[in-house]
Amino acid sequence: MNPNSHYDFIVIGAGIIGLSTAWQLRQQLPDSSILVVEKESQIAQHQTSHNSGVIHAGVYYQPGSLKADFCQRGAKATLAFCQQHHIPYQQPGKLLVATSSLELERMQALKQRCQQMGVAVSELNKQQLSEKEPNIEGLGALWVASSAIVSFQQIAAKLAELIQGSKVTLSTDTELLGVSEGTKAITIETSKGAFTGNYLIACAGLMADRVAHMMGLTTDFAIIPFRGEYYQLPESRKNLVKHLIYPIPDPALPFLGVHLTPMIDDKITVGPNAVVGWKREGYNHINLDLLDSWQMLCFPGFWKLLKQHGRAGLTEIANSWYKPGYLQQVRKYCPQLTLADLKPYPAGIRAQAVTAKGELIHDFLFAESPRSLHVCNAPSPAATSAFPIGAFIAEKIITGKILHKSRSQN
Ligand SMILES: Cc1cc2nc3c(=O)[nH]c(=O)nc-3n(C[C@H](O)[C@H](O)[C@H](O)COP(=O)(O)OP(=O)(O)OC[C@H]3O[C@@H](n4cnc5c(N)ncnc54)[C@H](O)[C@@H]3O)c2cc1C
Repeated sequence: MNPNSHYDFIVIGAGIIGLSTAWQLRQQLPDSSILVVEKESQIAQHQTSHNSGVIHAGVYYQPGSLKADFCQRGAKATLAFCQQHHIPYQQPGKLLVATSSLELERMQALKQRCQQMGVAVSELNKQQLSEKEPNIEGLGALWVASSAIVSFQQIAAKLAELIQGSKVTLSTDTELLGVSEGTKAITIETSKGAFTGNYLIACAGLMADRVAHMMGLTTDFAIIPFRGEYYQLPESRKNLVKHLIYPIPDPALPFLGVHLTPMIDDKITVGPNAVVGWKREGYNHINLDLLDSWQMLCFPGFWKLLKQHGRAGLTEIANSWYKPGYLQQVRKYCPQLTLADLKPYPAGIRAQAVTAKGELIHDFLFAESPRSLHVCNAPSPAATSAFPIGAFIAEKIITGKILHKSRSQN
């Protein structure tokens, strides 16, 4: 990679979204040159390798949203990719367990939503639930047979392998420091020098807002990092559950509620919770980055979010420090677990876009300039949805290019 080299496409971020996008571009435009820029020394070191590893079926998402569409298509595409490239996956299915009358009501609403969207689910009564999972207690459950598990990091590694070739450069240890967009090209300043491209695609995850601001894009959101803290069960509990066990979510805060997740490496994790992070890429329990924290505190949306969801937020913080509180959330449906069963496990950090009004942006969000496209909000199930997201970006760019060409030909 020579400084000042020119590329057709520059992709920022080698997480699963950046790599999927580069792969789609390479497949659809095999003669184009692509530079993928990653600041870490290895690919996929952030959200892509710190998650629950669930290929979601698309139960929770608003019909008509990008999430609903991309998740359903993404689940199929992910399984097909794993089969084609011999990446291990399993399809244990998911139980969404209702433990109160309110959750039973919410379960009915979820069931209707699934039927509306064509996601196959069936309802289990108390007895059927305990036959399926003898160690789980609830008043009833939704059974989603198609939910699967995988290592998204392995998928990312395969994508990185597939994109490399004479026309594609994947440059790690290369941090994007600045961008300027001209009428004829886009120039990036990186820790390894300057490069130019016809088009830039930013897939920077936890840094999405900063990359957008580097280009002077006006956006109405900031990334608020939400730590997702997990525990893992000891070896002696490895046969506790056979399926993914999830609570029925609160529709206002769908990502709250810890679950029991058999992982592809045979571990079972408990979690994640969701607590505000004071460092965007800080994985230890105590982390503070002054810039990250200051920017968050200066963002009006942060305070408005606290006002709206402060109570739930405080409970999450309390349970983060007070293990019995954390345990209580999972004992709701798995009463035999004890404190001794909660062993340490690495946390993940969600990049959650929040508007200046303090609203959590639930759907995937993109922003554009004439020569760039930014993935601004790609929280869960973005790993499941990575293939359709990459295809969507490639199509947008290709269609844009065709329009651009036909305009210049006229
Ligand atoms: C706790 C948790 C659980 C989750 N569980 C699931 C799940 O079960 N199923 C599911 O589908 N999804 C899940 N998700 C969501 C999923 O992991 C993410 O949505 C997905 O990985 C996002 O991928 P990404 O490529 O956008 O981001 P990332 O993987 O974070 O990649 C962004 C990349 O950009 C790089 N970058 C940033 N700034 C720069 C810069 N200036 N210069 C160069 N490079 C830069 C970063 O280093 C990073 O490698 C979960 C997420 C979390 C945190």
